[in-house]
Amino acid sequence: MFEKILIASRGEIALRIHRACRDLGISTVAVHSTADEDAMHVRLADESVCIGPPQAQDSYLNMPAIVSACEISGASAIHPGYGFLSENAKFAEIVQEHGLTFIGPSPEHIRLMGDKIEAKKTVQALGIPVVPGSEGAVTSDDETKAIANEIGYPVLLKAASGGGGRGMQIVRQESHLLGALSTARSESKMAFGDDTIYMEKFLERPRHIEIQILADGQGKAIHLGERDCSLQRRHQKVLEEAPSPALSPDLRNEIGGTVARAMEKIKYKGVGTVEFLYENGEFYFIEMNTRIQVEHPVTEMITGLDLIVEQIRIADDQPLSLTQDDVLITGHAIECRINAENPKTFLPSPGLVTHYHPPGGPGIRVDSSLYTDYVIPPYYDSLVGKLIVHGRTRKDCLMRLQRALQEFVIEGVETTIPLFSDLLQQEDIRTGNYHIRWLENYLNLT
Ligand code: ADP
Repeated sequence: MFEKILIASRGEIALRIHRACRDLGISTVAVHSTADEDAMHVRLADESVCIGPPQAQDSYLNMPAIVSACEISGASAIHPGYGFLSENAKFAEIVQEHGLTFIGPSPEHIRLMGDKIEAKKTVQALGIPVVPGSEGAVTSDDETKAIANEIGYPVLLKAASGGGGRGMQIVRQESHLLGALSTARSESKMAFGDDTIYMEKFLERPRHIEIQILADGQGKAIHLGERDCSLQRRHQKVLEEAPSPALSPDLRNEIGGTVARAMEKIKYKGVGTVEFLYENGEFYFIEMNTRIQVEHPVTEMITGLDLIVEQIRIADDQPLSLTQDDVLITGHAIECRINAENPKTFLPSPGLVTHYHPPGGPGIRVDSSLYTDYVIPPYYDSLVGKLIVHGRTRKDCLMRLQRALQEFVIEGVETTIPLFSDLLQQEDIRTGNYHIRWLENYLNLT
């Protein structure tokens, strides 16, 4: 097992990784920008190395600085967290070339799944259902029209190099198709330096359901059920829950099994998430994330597993610690993403946290890097914590969540806590009757 791991991330996930390392008896090295000197994970890590100025480009994305910090400190593995370099195949390659372990899948798998068109082709060939659409990039105008007619309007034009929900155009009728295509091409060229566009059927009211995978790289893979991440704003997840209110155990086992078998065939190694849209009883693959995800704790709460610990064990070439039959799903879990933002305008609200008091009691978990007198820097993502609640039933879970939100005190900055208190009053949320456009409709009405 590794003796020392370097954590190439920041915020709550860096702290989460530090804790998993401690639970395994592994020492930690924190790397940080000058803006993060006082971060909790930097304080708690065994060692810390400053790798540059606040801008992520010069620090958390600075590959030579991170690899040097690893060599100087004598760490033998790098955990990239999520965001930053976590899905950068080149970084994974460089880490390997230096004789270090990248805690994540092979560079080939990162690259494959990072290319949306190739990813879709690959999973389709492995028996995973995909959204009907163009086979690869659309080329001529005539071909684009023909495919749109075949799959039926509305259609969605998507940038092959897109990410974070950017570079997409909905087209509802043929007369708008070619105009939208040229807009999509030029926007994609500007944003991602690539004007490759592909087309999919646009689904009006699907749910976002994703399957968590653990795979050992030697041909064994299991699934840990699904997470329902349908509550989104601007394609950013806001609240996640597991199990999904929309799935039966049979459906879960069917899609989970299909995904696990596919991961076995490609000898995938590590944790991973296969994301689907789900509508009228059908699953449609949209993408695969080859890293740990923000919402992983809801899966931990219902399975009792520690996904970061599993991820580190897999990177250490250990066999999976459990079989599919050992995976037991118990109760219900919900996660609320607490952002330092105005809960109505969603404008960032960085600055001094004058008072911090997290909720407690049965079934409550808070993953946060905050503490009283911490100053939230303005340079990074506004996620400052996650409130995760477990209950025997969805109803128990909602009651505990309501209590926990009332107990949660973060003063000095604005947060999205009031938004969650409002959401819990909504009938559709209480019954689990929502889809990926529900939250934006709700926010437009209030
Ligand atoms: P990105 O990499 O930009 O996140 P995705 O392919 O994951 O791109 O899509 C982002 C979001 O866009 C999805 O979570 C979903 O809300 C919406 N979306 C993607 N494909 C479709 C589709 N075919 N129909 C309807 N909505 C879609």
